[in-house]
Amino acid sequence: MSGKSKKLTRRKFIDLGIQGYAGLQLASLAPGTLLSLSGCTLGEAKTFHGVCYHDCPDSCSWKVTVKHGVITAFAADKNNPFTAGKLCGKMETFPQDIAFHPDRIVTPLKRVGEKGQGKFEEISWMQAIREVAEKLTASVEEYGSESVLPFGYMGTQSLIQKSAMSKRFFTKLGASNLSETICGAPAVTGNLLANGQTTGVLPEDIVNSRYIILWGTNTKKSNIHLWPFILKAREQGAKLVVIDPFKSVTAMEADLHIQPMPDTDVALALGMMHIIINEGLTDNDYIERYTLGFEALKAHVQNYDPASVAAICGLEESQIIDLAHEYAKAKPSLIRYLIGMEHSHNGGDAFRAIGMLPSLTGAWREHGGGLMHFTYELFGKALNWERLDMHSTLAEKETRFINMVQLGRVLNNRRLRPAIKTLFVFNANPVVSIPNQNLIRKGLEREDLFTVVVEHFITDTAKYADYIFPATTQLEHWDIADSWGQVYINLNQPAIEPIGEAKPNSEFFRLLAKEMGFTDPCFEESDLDLVKSVVDSDHPYLEGITFDYLMEHGWAKLKIPEPFMPHAQGGFGTESGKCEFYATSLKNNGHALPKYRAVRYRNSRDYPLQLMTVKATKNFHNSSHANVRHLIETEGAPTLEIHSKDALSRNISNGDLIRVENRNGSVIIKARLKNRIRPGVVLMPSGFWPSHIKGSSTANALTNDRLTDLGGGAAIQNCRVQVIKYEPEASVSETTDTHVKYT
Ligand code: SF4
Repeated sequence: MSGKSKKLTRRKFIDLGIQGYAGLQLASLAPGTLLSLSGCTLGEAKTFHGVCYHDCPDSCSWKVTVKHGVITAFAADKNNPFTAGKLCGKMETFPQDIAFHPDRIVTPLKRVGEKGQGKFEEISWMQAIREVAEKLTASVEEYGSESVLPFGYMGTQSLIQKSAMSKRFFTKLGASNLSETICGAPAVTGNLLANGQTTGVLPEDIVNSRYIILWGTNTKKSNIHLWPFILKAREQGAKLVVIDPFKSVTAMEADLHIQPMPDTDVALALGMMHIIINEGLTDNDYIERYTLGFEALKAHVQNYDPASVAAICGLEESQIIDLAHEYAKAKPSLIRYLIGMEHSHNGGDAFRAIGMLPSLTGAWREHGGGLMHFTYELFGKALNWERLDMHSTLAEKETRFINMVQLGRVLNNRRLRPAIKTLFVFNANPVVSIPNQNLIRKGLEREDLFTVVVEHFITDTAKYADYIFPATTQLEHWDIADSWGQVYINLNQPAIEPIGEAKPNSEFFRLLAKEMGFTDPCFEESDLDLVKSVVDSDHPYLEGITFDYLMEHGWAKLKIPEPFMPHAQGGFGTESGKCEFYATSLKNNGHALPKYRAVRYRNSRDYPLQLMTVKATKNFHNSSHANVRHLIETEGAPTLEIHSKDALSRNISNGDLIRVENRNGSVIIKARLKNRIRPGVVLMPSGFWPSHIKGSSTANALTNDRLTDLGGGAAIQNCRVQVIKYEPEASVSETTDTHVKYT
């Protein structure tokens, strides 16, 4: 885009966005009317490689075709066998939905109203960066560098715009670190304690399995590119079992659905062990050679007899016994576990106990047998990570960690030394996605808190910012992506010039570093330099995978030796090299063996129902896309699912307006009587933007910032509420926003 056309008013931008939208369908705009494109001669169609940036296990490859300054095609890359020519529904129209969304921020903004009001005026980049640097310098001088908290997470999981330059900046500054624990941390911690690594069976190898347990994962909806491999396994005779307290679309497809009460999975796994061990269904040779602590585990699981476990989980004894028998006898047997249990008080130990099951039965010996969890460690070995964050070069001192789960608590903690005085938010929308929404808002309202947000939209979090900087989308910048759910590396090329005055996150931190006087050469590196340096590695997984190769093909499968059977002969990542049933290092704090610990709730009589929150993954991705009109219309208004028994006792009918409440807050929402959850449990989707809802509160207004047993995760599912019928003064479908409406 020429310098002349860079200054866009919101109205002009919306006009351009509409043309861009039309261009996607018609491809008939005159050259130069919309966007000038990098590397694209007007008139010549050019195709660019890209990758989905979402926090999703599938990390799909895409292609963008541009002609006459207009995107003429945007689609999944048909050549990548894992993406297999299919993006999920919410991403098929990503360019017009997000890049050309009429509400996109196109210039830096400075707050002129009260915090939270969302009133801003335009300001130039140069002036805004100068003012932010001045304020930051003064604040660091007065309160110390650890008074600065970066809050960036998985708004993009592509490596350059996620954290490369931002990590360099905050390391150089000496800011507090963010413990990124809202997702994955309890699961990783639990699995690492048992197995020392999370890499197990590779996704494509699930076709070899003959007994598949999907434990805490709604695969058909949220890991859609794994699903065809599961279907193939079923065609070849595999039995599919789903363990989930919620009767998801995946559970409906299964041969068997086991529906325990939320947060009891660890008890179920220990109950299965009780049966497998006591009935001699173990692989004693595997246990002897490749595990540690079997005798301690055997003694421990005597506490988890079928009757006790059935009472904890709300299941029949026979369900637990049959499941244990089937699982132990089937070969190859595979457990695929994912997000479900992470957000529970017992989540860490659930992942740990379940992760031990394949070593009891020797399932790892078979191709397609064992445990499937994450794949990111394979990229961790292959890629050149140190060149990304330059931590060892830049760190002058170790600084404290702040747990992201407790952002509200931290912002309101006046005894914290130093208190958080400056908050940078990028790739994140904590008002929507972090527990205890009202406490976070209270913290963001602090007049002595300086908040800077880098964003695409004025989100519920950005409304509290002192300055907002417009960020580019995945169509507008360089990046490179690993994956936590498959084994393909992807390059992301910019297909169009940045919209308006948007800049990549990396450029924001480059400019701020310069203004702060950081002269280290690493702040001069371009995004292209960074992309090239990430693949500058001689690890055998990257053999033949160079930057030039990725420029030509877009993606590449890591060169992992096949068949990949990481624990057929032990080889665990623990210190002992064995699967550790007993963690000696934790014997003094009561965590040497996985346990079920019942949660005691305060005021449990006042708040008798257990709230489960699930992601609205079909149309939204966490909080992303929840401001896109057609996706909102498809999704419909958020509802609270309540079992008919619980509804009846409260005189609630389907569609009634209700108030869901506890000590943290309340949400006004419609009731949905659909018995996909058990009596005593209610279910609410997360991801909706509060400002689009009458009452301005969503699921996280109710959730706690209580931490999980291991890994410092968020025990969001251990949340008790009451539900009462609500007589409204106005319809819940009213909205404060002109572009969206949850109806
Ligand atoms: S959200 Fe997931 S399934 Fe959808 S396009 Fe992105 S990576 Fe693929």
